[in-house]
Order: sequence, then C-alpha cells, then structure tokens
Amino acid sequence: MSTFRAIRIDKAEKGTSASFVDFDRADLMDGDVTVRVSHSTINYKDGLALTGKSPIVRRFPMIPGIDFAGTVEASTHKDFKPGDQVVLNGWGVGESHLGGLAQVARVPGDWLVPLPAELSAAQAMAIGTAGYTAMLCLMALERYGVKPSDGPALVTGAAGGVGSVAVALLKNAGWHVAASTGRPEEEAYLRSLGADEIIPRAELSGPARPLGKERWAASIDSVGSHTLANVLSQTKSDGAVAACGLAQGMDLPSSVAPFILRGVALLGVNSVLVPKAKRIEAWNRLAKELDQKKLASMTQHVGFDDVMRVAEDILAGKIRGRVVVDIPA
Ligand code: NDP
Repeated sequence: MSTFRAIRIDKAEKGTSASFVDFDRADLMDGDVTVRVSHSTINYKDGLALTGKSPIVRRFPMIPGIDFAGTVEASTHKDFKPGDQVVLNGWGVGESHLGGLAQVARVPGDWLVPLPAELSAAQAMAIGTAGYTAMLCLMALERYGVKPSDGPALVTGAAGGVGSVAVALLKNAGWHVAASTGRPEEEAYLRSLGADEIIPRAELSGPARPLGKERWAASIDSVGSHTLANVLSQTKSDGAVAACGLAQGMDLPSSVAPFILRGVALLGVNSVLVPKAKRIEAWNRLAKELDQKKLASMTQHVGFDDVMRVAEDILAGKIRGRVVVDIPA
C-alpha cells in the first residue's frame, strides 16, 4: 500500500491540531528500517505533543508517538531483516522524526532494540518509555550503590506510568517500597504492585524545608518541583534520588542543604538519548524482572479513536498505570 493510517500533528493558527489521515509512504523520513507497527502507547510526553500543551513537536507535519513496537517490513541495516520484532523508545521519534502512532514507521536501525523473546509487542508497549525509564532510574540507583538494606525506597507519582512500574521493579529488587499518590482510591492497586506503605501526595507537594526527617535511602521521582524538593530534604545521609519527571512542575525549589549536609545524590535520568547497549540491558532486565501479571494489571488497551481523550486524561493525572494503543492491522 502506498498510504497508511496515522495521526498527524500540524501547525494551526493557534498552536497545533491533530487529525487521523492516510499518510503517504513517500513522505516518511530517512531510515534504513521500515517497521509495520502493531502497538504504540501514550506517555505523558505524548499527551503534551497531542494536545499541543508544550512545544514537544519540533517538525511539522509530525506523526506523534515516542514509542512503537512491531515487525520489520524492510531493512538494509545489518542487524535487522524482515520479520524481526523490534521496539523503539525516544531518539526524538514523535518529536523531530515521524513517530509511532501510525501503521508504519521508518527509522535508522541503530535506534531499534530487538524485542526480548520473553515479551510480546503489546507487553513492550505496556512498558513503553514510562516503564523503560523506571528501569533506567533503578539502574541509576544501583550504579550509585544504594541498596535495600540502607532503608526504604520512595516512588512519587506512584499510580502513574513511571510510578507503577517503579513500584513493581523496586519491590522485585528487594526494597521496602513507599508509594506517594494523590489518589487514595488507588491504595489497593499500589499494594498489589508491591507498595508496603502509602504516602499521601499532599505530604510532599508543599514548599520544602531545607532538611526534613531522614526517611528514604532511595527514591524514584516523576513529579519534580516541590515534591522533588521534599524528597531531597527527607533523603537519608548518603542516599540517592533518581529524578526523571515534571508532573508537578519543571522547577526545583530546593536548597543545597541535602547535598552538603547529608551527601545526598541527585541522579538525573533522560531516556531519550541512552546508548544502545544500555537500552538493550534495560529491556532485557524488564523482560526478566517485571512481573507480567503486575504489568497486565496496570495496563489498559485503547484504539486510535481514544487517543485524544487519553492524551487529555494523562495530563490531568487521571490515567492509572499504562495505556497501550492497538494499531489497526
Ligand atoms: P503519568 O501521568 O502516567 O504519571 C504522572 C503521575 O504524577 C500521575 O499519575 C500522578 O500520580 C502524579 N501527578 C500528576 N500531577 C501531579 C501534580 N500536579 N502534583 C503531584 N503529582 C502529580 O505520566 P508518566 O508516568 O508517563 O510520566 C511521568 C513524568 O515523567 C512526566 O513528567 C514525564 O514527562 C516524565 N518522563 C520523563 C522521562 C525522561 O526521560 N526523563 C521518560 C518518561 C517520563 P498520583 O495520582 O499517583 O499522585
């Protein structure tokens, strides 16, 4: 077929507009691997791109979707041949390179990761950038050297995508897990993923003191702003915080006190430009360490028609866990 179904974002008079289109293959961007996409997903960043609430998209027209999984249709790359199953996260796909909310994607093969044998394409997208980032956060904490015997681990934004996977991964790694959420009705859900205690979001979302009571040996923060400032001020001596998100805000109204008086480490995590070897390690670990029953319990499937509703809902903090977009065959 010379065209395929896709979501396309165009520049509008005010901001951007998203529509369903038949996209011409001739308009795909350069790449040595063409993939028949079977599943994509909606992360927080996709919500920003689809609604135009933040300038995520840097080229128009754009096919959004920072993740996809599917089957190689054509390849001139040495590592991939037709029929191979692949997964992609980041690299500016859905931002500056045409993305995954489409039946077909074409990308440089160096950006692709072979789908681990233990995972289906749907499961890989249930993990998606959010879950893969949760694994990168765990790896950052481990590389720094904090361990479960040092004390409890805290996850903020726990009922969201990064947070849900982080709770399950930390529990599997042997941590006592505290899950911070603004949705008390999700307590049973979070406990089923592995949370040992629930921390109300309001305890962390106001202005932080320079130093608070020492509570956490390690944290995974997807919220930023005052929440991250509070997490830092409550981190135990020589503890570490992996920071990846900005659901509360981009700011960090903190002080140097946790760093200079407690030796706290703030570890930044950017999933977009991770080198290939580390990506493969992260995906292989996800395939082995993330309980597939827990993954299923945190995942809902939607169709193309639901994408715009989900985009609004994820920005409103209403989505629990992860969303897979089933791409029509
Ligand atoms: P989700 O919307 O699924 O999760 C975010 C969660 O944060 C919500 O579910 C909610 O959790 C909490 N939250 C939302 N609004 C607020 C608020 N105003 N104050 C405090 N908490 C709030 O998004 P994702 O999990 O997909 O992404 C989370 C963050 O991580 C985003 O900012 C995203 O951009 C970032 N991210 C960064 C990556 C990187 O490479 N650095 C990669 C992936 C994500 P609850 O209801 O439990 O309180």
